[in-house]
Amino acid sequence: MISGMDMLYRRVGSSGLKVSALSFGAWVTFGKQVGDPVAKQLLHAAYDAGVNFFDNAETYADGQAEIVMGHILRESGWPRDTYLVSSKVFFGAEHEGPNQVGLSRKHVVEACHAALQRLQVDYLDLYYCHRPDPEVPIEETARAMHDLITQGKALYWGTSEWSAAEIRTAHEVCARHHLHHPIVEQPQYNLFHRTRVEQEYAPLYQAPGLGTTIWSPLATGLLTGKYNDGVPSDSRLNAAGMEWLRDRLTGDPAFARRIAAVKELAAIAAELGTSLPRLGVAWCLKNPHVSSVILGASRPAQLQENLGALALVDQLTPAVMKRIDAISRPVAD
Ligand code: NDP
Repeated sequence: MISGMDMLYRRVGSSGLKVSALSFGAWVTFGKQVGDPVAKQLLHAAYDAGVNFFDNAETYADGQAEIVMGHILRESGWPRDTYLVSSKVFFGAEHEGPNQVGLSRKHVVEACHAALQRLQVDYLDLYYCHRPDPEVPIEETARAMHDLITQGKALYWGTSEWSAAEIRTAHEVCARHHLHHPIVEQPQYNLFHRTRVEQEYAPLYQAPGLGTTIWSPLATGLLTGKYNDGVPSDSRLNAAGMEWLRDRLTGDPAFARRIAAVKELAAIAAELGTSLPRLGVAWCLKNPHVSSVILGASRPAQLQENLGALALVDQLTPAVMKRIDAISRPVAD
């Protein structure tokens, strides 16, 4: 079990904000796959291990994930300056009317107010645009984010799955109009999904100094080996409403080759005396452009296991990384 003493903290890009290298997110689990008592155990275990960032979004369980997290945060009595909490705007919560989704000024502001209520906090530490919105000028969204920051309702803003060109445009608009600029991007990053973080964003790390809080570090469970012999009945791929995820993962043309790669990676994990989940998470941590790896877990034991990845990072020597690369790169996108 790791304690807060063992946690590492990294700067979020060139901002002054410090985030735990391992953080914890609520997608699929809070308000959906797990009951409230388990959600509480998970959040407390994360906090006790030094995790200072809890990730959420308006769309997770249609707002329920934020409600569950809000209750736990309120009851915890944790000082507000010891943790960061995020929300993300774009997909909408319960309703999907024309102004209840997207990145218009109207929805960005109203979604922020709704998230603050659900999470029972006075401000969001990080407020992300969950996807780009081709129907809204970036300047409109950037101004809305700037105003929320000026009003103290959000401290920093960021993007999720924006292209490098869109992030650059946001920075240009913000520089031109003296607006608070985005400090962080939230992309998918794992052994099977690498191009965007490693290549597309590469020019942005130095200047403007992009930070990243990366999602699905275990490729939504694939890298744990749990799907090697089919989809277990108690996994997220069998949760109600998650058929689309099961189809996307198992229907990928590379699925069978990825399962084969996972089996080869398991041999490396065994040699190192560790587990596949730890190997997958530690591999993400090796990338210095990753500010934080957002963990997901539906059971406290999974979380404890994955938190142990911190101790593995030094064992991933250049020689080991080369072997991991040779196995995973041919099946990565
Ligand atoms: P992972 O890829 O790590 O998948 C987590 C899931 O894998 C768990 O819920 C569990 O699934 C399984 N798992 C994890 N550890 C273990 C283990 N040790 N042993 C066995 N199974 C394990 O991360 P997520 O996909 O959950 O993403 C993490 C966070 O990133 C989310 O909570 C969310 O905050 C954020 N996110 C952001 C997105 C965005 O668009 N910005 C998109 C997706 C996620 P099971 O319950 O089936 O056992």
